[in-house]
Amino acid sequence: MKTFFVETWGCQMNQHDSELIEGQLRLHGLAPVTTAEDADLVVLNTCSVRDKPVQKIISRIGFLAKQKPETIIGVCGCVAEQEAGALLDRSASVGFVLGPGQTARIGEAVRAVEQGKRPVLTGFDAEAEYNFHTIFRKSTTRGMVTVIEGCNEFCTFCIVPYTRGREVSRPLGAVLAEVRSIAADGIKEVELLGQTINAYRCPETGATLARLLEAVASVDGLLRVRFITSHPRHFGQDLIDVLAENRNVFRYLHLPIQSGSDAILRKMHRKYTRDEYLALVDRIRAATPKINLSTDVIVGFPGESDADFDDTMRVLTQVRFGQVYAFGYSPRPKTPAARYRPEISEEVKTSRLQRLFSVSNRISLELNQELVGEVAQVLIDGESRRNPEHWQGRGEDNRVVNFPKSGREDVGDVVEVEIQRAGPHSLSGEIIAGAVRLPIVSAG
Ligand code: SF4
Repeated sequence: MKTFFVETWGCQMNQHDSELIEGQLRLHGLAPVTTAEDADLVVLNTCSVRDKPVQKIISRIGFLAKQKPETIIGVCGCVAEQEAGALLDRSASVGFVLGPGQTARIGEAVRAVEQGKRPVLTGFDAEAEYNFHTIFRKSTTRGMVTVIEGCNEFCTFCIVPYTRGREVSRPLGAVLAEVRSIAADGIKEVELLGQTINAYRCPETGATLARLLEAVASVDGLLRVRFITSHPRHFGQDLIDVLAENRNVFRYLHLPIQSGSDAILRKMHRKYTRDEYLALVDRIRAATPKINLSTDVIVGFPGESDADFDDTMRVLTQVRFGQVYAFGYSPRPKTPAARYRPEISEEVKTSRLQRLFSVSNRISLELNQELVGEVAQVLIDGESRRNPEHWQGRGEDNRVVNFPKSGREDVGDVVEVEIQRAGPHSLSGEIIAGAVRLPIVSAG
């Protein structure tokens, strides 16, 4: 095997795992190519959070195997953990299967394939070595850093605790060393990752995410820090204070609610009520009024009545999220909710989702329109995909901002942009000042 291509499905954790995979494959002497057709090895880094992506991955294996049977397919990620050895039966082209807890062993898997074996490596090893120096970072503006792996929450709909294992926090010192190395490479923004990131506890000192954020926010050369994903029940006052007080912690927070009905939240095993969630939002906004909140919602959880769904809609109009990520409930193997009844029909899920998106898009648009005339400090990520004469970047509240190039700035610069137009999912405007190196504004 000489060349490889990595395809990534799913969340930021998977995107980051793909950086780890690419780093390891380069280390083992394989060269990246730009299409799956040109690769000797195609790595599918998979997601199993819903059934649809799983089906897509299964058909992708079939397609690749048919198109070029000599290509070796390596299946990584959550589908690998879920299906394990059964994936070898899908196609003779599947050369290895590697769960998320075994990603760092991809070099070993490649060597085994070269010796005619078909390894299946799953499960979790809390002592597994983590070498951030081998990560191949794709972005020159944003560096992802894992701070906690796995999840202990066992929400009844979710497969993550089974595919990514129990929570394991990295020592604060190790996270800081990685962040310092990213900042030394000139990367301006760090995104701290974890499925339940605010359950973080340093295994050596017991430090919380709030303390970790403070330490990361003060690393020299780093302009911005963000973190994802927070569980409402672990959101303490110390974290609220850090958000409000640290000028370079993003004014953006992803806080999944999943449902606005207490009955459904109980069945989901979310361990908070609607009122507790709303009270938390009030406390966060009291400390950081301009924070941009986003959330996740599951529509059509078993037994969700019209009244339950109306409760969810009421929360959306009450909180006014900048962005809502909503999906129809999809039963996952091993999870308790897969046995819950009554199931909600796909028709009902679709019509509820349509109702939800028409309201959440209207709210997103209204919130974005309120920003017209304001000045955003935008970190340039790259050229706009729609117009090569324009840049695309993100403001300090995570909103996407597009604007025409002036010729004086480049990727990785921070510029001040006057917002002139707003859509539901992005803003656009004009640069009002040249590249700014220290764009920090106070939160709130
Ligand atoms: S908190 Fe719940 S939804 Fe989130 S990863 Fe853990 S089990 Fe899944």
